Amino acid sequence: MSFDLDRRAFLAAALGATALGSVRPARAQSVATSAKIVIIGAGAAGSSLANRLAARLDGAEITIIDARKRHLYQPGFTLIAAGLKPAGYSVSDTGNWLPRSVNWIEEGAAEIDPEAKTVTTDTGTQVSYDYLVVAAGLKLNYDQIEGMDVSLIGKDGIGSVYASPEAAEATWREMDRFTDEGGVGLFTRPATEMKCAGAPLKYTFLTDDYARRKGNRGKTEIVYAAHSKSLFGVPIVNEKVRMLYGERGFDTRYEHVMKAIDPGRKVATFATPEGDEDIPFDFTNIIPPMSAPDVVRNSPLPWADKWVGQGYVEVDQYTLRHNRYPDVFAAGDVAGVPKGKTAASAKWQVPVVEDQLVAQIAGQEGTETYNGYTSCPLITRVGRAMLIEFDYKNNLVPSFPGVIAPLEELWVSWLMKEIALKATYNAMLRGRA
Ligand SMILES: Cc1cc2nc3c(=O)[nH]c(=O)nc-3n(C[C@H](O)[C@H](O)[C@H](O)COP(=O)(O)OP(=O)(O)OC[C@H]3O[C@@H](n4cnc5c(N)ncnc54)[C@H](O)[C@@H]3O)c2cc1C
Repeated sequence: MSFDLDRRAFLAAALGATALGSVRPARAQSVATSAKIVIIGAGAAGSSLANRLAARLDGAEITIIDARKRHLYQPGFTLIAAGLKPAGYSVSDTGNWLPRSVNWIEEGAAEIDPEAKTVTTDTGTQVSYDYLVVAAGLKLNYDQIEGMDVSLIGKDGIGSVYASPEAAEATWREMDRFTDEGGVGLFTRPATEMKCAGAPLKYTFLTDDYARRKGNRGKTEIVYAAHSKSLFGVPIVNEKVRMLYGERGFDTRYEHVMKAIDPGRKVATFATPEGDEDIPFDFTNIIPPMSAPDVVRNSPLPWADKWVGQGYVEVDQYTLRHNRYPDVFAAGDVAGVPKGKTAASAKWQVPVVEDQLVAQIAGQEGTETYNGYTSCPLITRVGRAMLIEFDYKNNLVPSFPGVIAPLEELWVSWLMKEIALKATYNAMLRGRA
């Protein structure tokens, strides 16, 4: 093994345990119960929680409902769309991550009745619960962009990193062609809440980097359409990204929200405060509006006065317990909390739900709370990233203070994303991180 590989392996091992924030040990004490617990969604949060509850509870009947047989490691999509990993890098079997003692219903949840305490699946099976954890992630609403359909990804310069590993790979092919040929690259993000708000920024940086490496930046224009007056929700990070965007020569258009696309003409239409504006493109990375899945959005669980129409679950932002239905919790992207739509957040939310739920079963008060921890390895070029970690108060909360400076473009932060993150993520799925 070369020195470089040795060093990478060592760093990966050292960072592996901490790539989603510093380590918190699983609690060992088990509780005897015959409680019926239903988890909706077997993604990052749901699988992790199923494992932790199975280890913690003795005698509980735990059911997880999810029709998706493929587990998708979504942080890998950016690497796939950068031509650095194949589509298979992000795909595994959902069943491989679930503990044997948990009953997996391989169907979608179609209806939640928190009064009757039942969940009905899309084939009509009714499952009753004592406690419900909603971990259904969020839904990509491509149909809210007129003229857009996932089948267009990979054609006519249309890319979209978010849709699937295959879409990410098709996006890479379009980006690779674009950075050979040049033209206008158009990058978007939705006006809704979204998972990994750093991902649209990362992909813009990566495209710029490829164009430069190929010597084609001179014939490439990069337009970034920001939905609001800023590029990132945390002011100090926004300032840094704004500076980098200026240095890289990006044309940032603020308050531009994509509303329609004409693939034939290669023109996208944006809603702006001054009215609609058309922007032509040779390549575009479309990030669609997002919402809670319909089963949640159409249930009694969402906030009435926050994220209206998006349907995120009305939970206390610290305990993740529902404000109106105390036997219901939410974890992961579907939780209606002000920050935290990343896998790194799920890693911190799941032990809180575990603690609060197990304490409730035992007739006690939970002690763990979620502080909004969100982490985003913000890639700025191949081999460099800024490891941005923050909380509800927009404080930067670095896991390696004095070692990894959050706002510096570092190789070690890149390694966190490229190597360490997946190992930590997999450990989280098993309930071990
Ligand atoms: C391009 C991209 C880059 C990202 N980069 C990063 C990163 O660098 N770092 C980071 O920490 N995070 C990143 N993320 C975000 C991270 O992947 C998500 O925040 C994380 O997966 C959320 O976990 P979750 O369990 O809430 O949702 P998911 O992992 O999406 O799982 C949700 C599950 O719910 C299921 N479900 C949906 N509807 C129903 C229903 N009706 N019934 C039953 N089940 C249902 C789905 O099938 C799915 O299995 C990225 C995401 C993307 C798309």
